[in-house]
Amino acid sequence: MKVSVIIPAGGSGVRFGNLIPKQLVLLDDKPIIVHTIQAFEIHPLISSVILSVAENWIDRYQELILLHNLSKVTTITIGGNNRQTSIANALFTSEALSSDIVLVHDSVRPFISQNLISTVVSTAIQSGAAIPVLNCKETIKLVNSNGIVIQTLDRNLLRSVQTPQGFKRDILVSAYNEHQINSMSTTDDASLVEAIGIQVSTISGEESNIKITTPLDFKLAELILSDLKIQQHE
Ligand code: C5P
Repeated sequence: MKVSVIIPAGGSGVRFGNLIPKQLVLLDDKPIIVHTIQAFEIHPLISSVILSVAENWIDRYQELILLHNLSKVTTITIGGNNRQTSIANALFTSEALSSDIVLVHDSVRPFISQNLISTVVSTAIQSGAAIPVLNCKETIKLVNSNGIVIQTLDRNLLRSVQTPQGFKRDILVSAYNEHQINSMSTTDDASLVEAIGIQVSTISGEESNIKITTPLDFKLAELILSDLKIQQHE
């Protein structure tokens, strides 16, 4: 059973007001994306990591791979001008196409646990498509383009979605082939799989599996990391 993980890091995503992409911002002693890759590096079920990166940063990623001995990073592809193109470039490589299961994980979610990776893989093996989700704490409303509320959605039926999302390779390849014809714009991979009529299973995500996007997320990330370090020493 070969399991690969695609990590799209093609965005220039300079959202903290930095000049470097947010996944390369240092968290403690190393870039956010190095923490992320290391979670997969130490997981026994993961065979390889495929990165999709912006062309002008490729040398920096190669340096980081050597410096941190990230031996499972077998392939680096050039990102596209949106998340889906970056993932498609990684998916249509021999490394991904020779895998049984393909995971896709955001580069800026460094606190993915070993347990959650295992559950995503085992559920993808059983059902074909698996995504981690959280219940919504807040009430969510649908608004029109003027900000006027159209509908209040039933919170009990809503979930916020995390990564890694896991798929049988053939399912993800079919979804991306169809996407290249329709070029549907989505923010996650499961949407493309849903669009070809495949059921997607949900599993419990983890609150600590945050996506570092804003300066406040970054502060939270520092807290989570110091907490993890304390737990490791206990
Ligand atoms: O923009 P957003 O935060 O949703 O991006 C999610 C992921 O997609 C990030 O890991 C980002 O680096 C990646 N991405 C990409 N290629 C792009 C744009 C975003 O790989 N052109």
